[in-house]
Amino acid sequence: MDFKKLKRHAKNYLNTGVVQSNDTESNQHVFVANLFGFIGYSITFLMGVSAFIREDRLLGMVLLIACLLFFSSHLILRSKRITDPYKFSANLVTISLMMLMIYLVFTGGVKGTGPLWIYIVPPVALFFGGMRKGTRNIGLFVLVISVLMFYPNNEWLGTTYTFEFKSRLIYSFLTVSCLFAFYEYVRQSSFIRIQEMSQKFEKQAMRDPLSGLLNRRGMRVKLQDEFERSQRYNNELTVMMCDIDNFKRVNDQYGHDKGDEIIKSLGAVFKSGLRRQDSLARWGGEEYLFLLPETNGSQGMQLAEKLRTKIEKEQYTHEYKNFSVTVSIGLHQIVVTDTINQAITKADTNLYKAKEQGRNRCIIS
Ligand code: GH3
Ligand code: MG
Ligand code: MG
Repeated sequence: MDFKKLKRHAKNYLNTGVVQSNDTESNQHVFVANLFGFIGYSITFLMGVSAFIREDRLLGMVLLIACLLFFSSHLILRSKRITDPYKFSANLVTISLMMLMIYLVFTGGVKGTGPLWIYIVPPVALFFGGMRKGTRNIGLFVLVISVLMFYPNNEWLGTTYTFEFKSRLIYSFLTVSCLFAFYEYVRQSSFIRIQEMSQKFEKQAMRDPLSGLLNRRGMRVKLQDEFERSQRYNNELTVMMCDIDNFKRVNDQYGHDKGDEIIKSLGAVFKSGLRRQDSLARWGGEEYLFLLPETNGSQGMQLAEKLRTKIEKEQYTHEYKNFSVTVSIGLHQIVVTDTINQAITKADTNLYKAKEQGRNRCIIS
């Protein structure tokens, strides 16, 4: 078998149970569960066989049972019938590992070296259990091995350890656990911070900073969703393109800052007149695009007229002088054969007609 093929097999194996639709963090956990399981059953298998060769049958049996449990954790991840295979598998790895370690502490393993393996517990318990459950499991583990080891006269042990060995074992184990817990805490909190930041940036990338409305990119996502929905369920859907009339003149007369203020204010006025399922975007400089699900042309027209008259009445002030602006609106109710771009172009054409016919009006296909 060549190296590339081996690499592909290893990758497939370690990605068993990874679901594309899950987030990266969950899939990373599944990946590591496979890796830990693999290391777990390989090592326990080798050591189990070596125990049998030394004719330590009991240790050999225990190691092979642990090996089987680690291997089942992998089989569980393959299963499609279990509701949360990862959780099941992670619990199995953690519990099997802790039981095996308790057994090694109890018997001493090979010539008293068994306890050397317990340092595997903190990283595994914290990785699979997270901060809270992980520290609880580690605490429980320390409690069990302490009781076994410090019970008077080594009565609850299958072997003997010196007091110095036992106490140093617990101290060093606790130190390692604290370091891992701290590390896990830092990792978790920085992961959460990065996730929050990326969600914030993703949201920002969809919005226009001046008006706070969706930008083109954000609206494209909505358009895609609503088009698919309307095609699937045969729902009515209307798009509406709105443009401020003679806006160049507004800028010239009252200044660019006033212009900005008006763009923002119109956005807020529009927004207050819409339903929750409607979407509104700043499509261009002084252009707004409305997406109205479950709305037919005549309902769209009613809304457009309502918004147009509302804007007409809105008063702005510049150097103690009042003025108002008007808008023109082009509408189009989607037909089955329309693509998104065609629908927008049709609304745009109607907007152009409204401008041609004297502005401050609404026109529908
Ligand atoms: P019409 O009625 O035909 O739409 O006339 P108009 O003057 O509005 O049309 P035109 O599209 O030629 O001009 C739009 C103007 O809008 C040009 C530009 O200066 C202004 N504008 C575009 N974006 C912004 C903006 O973000 N802020 C401000 N203040 N003005 C903008
Ligand atoms: Mg204009
Ligand atoms: Mg324009």
